[in-house]
Amino acid sequence: MPEHKILLNESELPTHWYNVIPDLPTPMSPYMGPDGQPITPESMQAIFPPAIIEQEMSDQRWIEIPEPVRDALCLWRPSPLYRAKRLEEALGTPAKIYFKHEGVSPAGSHKPNSAVAQAYYNRQAGIRRLTTETGAGQWGSSLALAGQMFGLDVHVYMVNVSYHQKPFRRSMMQTWGAEVIPSPSRKTETGRQALEKDPDNPGSLGLAISEAVEEAAGREDTNYALGSVLNHVLLHQTVIGQEAKAQLAKVGETPDVILAPCGGGSNVGGIMFPFLADKAAGKDIRMVAVEPSSCPTLTRGHYAYDYGDSVGLTPIMKMYTLGHDFMPPGIHAGGLRYHGDSVLVSQLYHEGILEAVAVPQIATFEAGVLFSRTQGIIPAPESAHAVRGAIDEALKAKAEGKEKTILFTLSGHGHFDMAAYDRYFAGDLEDFDYPDDALNQALHNLPDVE
Ligand SMILES: *Cc1c(COP(=O)(O)O)cnc(C)c1O
Repeated sequence: MPEHKILLNESELPTHWYNVIPDLPTPMSPYMGPDGQPITPESMQAIFPPAIIEQEMSDQRWIEIPEPVRDALCLWRPSPLYRAKRLEEALGTPAKIYFKHEGVSPAGSHKPNSAVAQAYYNRQAGIRRLTTETGAGQWGSSLALAGQMFGLDVHVYMVNVSYHQKPFRRSMMQTWGAEVIPSPSRKTETGRQALEKDPDNPGSLGLAISEAVEEAAGREDTNYALGSVLNHVLLHQTVIGQEAKAQLAKVGETPDVILAPCGGGSNVGGIMFPFLADKAAGKDIRMVAVEPSSCPTLTRGHYAYDYGDSVGLTPIMKMYTLGHDFMPPGIHAGGLRYHGDSVLVSQLYHEGILEAVAVPQIATFEAGVLFSRTQGIIPAPESAHAVRGAIDEALKAKAEGKEKTILFTLSGHGHFDMAAYDRYFAGDLEDFDYPDDALNQALHNLPDVE
């Protein structure tokens, strides 16, 4: 019997997170304040607890996972690693395809891996309320779950268009006790200004971040939590890659290529960073971030300092960006439609250690459907990007008649995204390439920081 599903038991859950910062080939580009100077840990204290700020800038390679966080993670971890045998057969490829199934968490994606850690550290610091933003609803539901587990009230600013398109993600957050507010809202100065300009504003992730940060900065008992992009989030996600490595080792495998869908970069960092040491030691491992061609941050963005949100409340970060005022077109409002990317992923991509590809929407859904019909698991549209990337790698192996071992993150299931699948089946989806003039326009609005 070939191995289709490779499991670890609870005692094999990683005891530490892997911090890539000390292993970067060049020092990390610092976060900057509006004055053009590197920001200090103190300036982050209005919205983050001390442990998170320390992790954000830590040069310690291994950071111990607190016991209550490991306990929480054990509700769904270690997650299974599957060999996609049926997909391989359907493609007729000599490649072996493995995927790490992060859709087994209660919220249905990898995001709770960081949410439980963030809720724990905030509670430890005496915080009672957390604010956050959510696009597709994945992060909001993860933080709602984590807030419930560690006794915190959670306020979620949900991008207006998703609030209406994804009513069940909203119900899910409410079931876990969170308050959900469509963004832009009248609760914040940022929201009120946006609504004044356009009462039908569909919202954006950047705008929702601004609202959540504004509320957290204005209240003592309230902090902010971010579901991607920042170093500590990528750190918390490294359980994915560590487990995958141990699972592959059980069947005597190492990957030739690792793929992950890339929004803000947290599951890219999560699955890839634990393999960087092997790459540095000479093992030929390609690492490929897969993004949508409608939001081509790494493949077509500028590598420059930019804000993490739309109105400029967050630190200025050196990253690939489409411009902080990027407004994604209203087509499927997925978790990959963020204007920027993690500083760490951006830097490793800039140095040629990570690669990136952009894939169009229709081919992505086609891959999602083939995966559903062969492996049974319906991928989130975000995850279907990695499925597309993995299928393309497997077809390339077939054309070249070469064996190869492919690993990718199935970052979440698509049970709340069936409306998007419906639109695909109805032929209503379009491919959309982000226009050149919009890219050039974005360059003019970048902050003046070098
Ligand atoms: C949020 C999300 C992503 C993208 O976020 P990253 O931080 O880039 O990992 C990908 N897949 C799913 C299912 C998500 O919910």
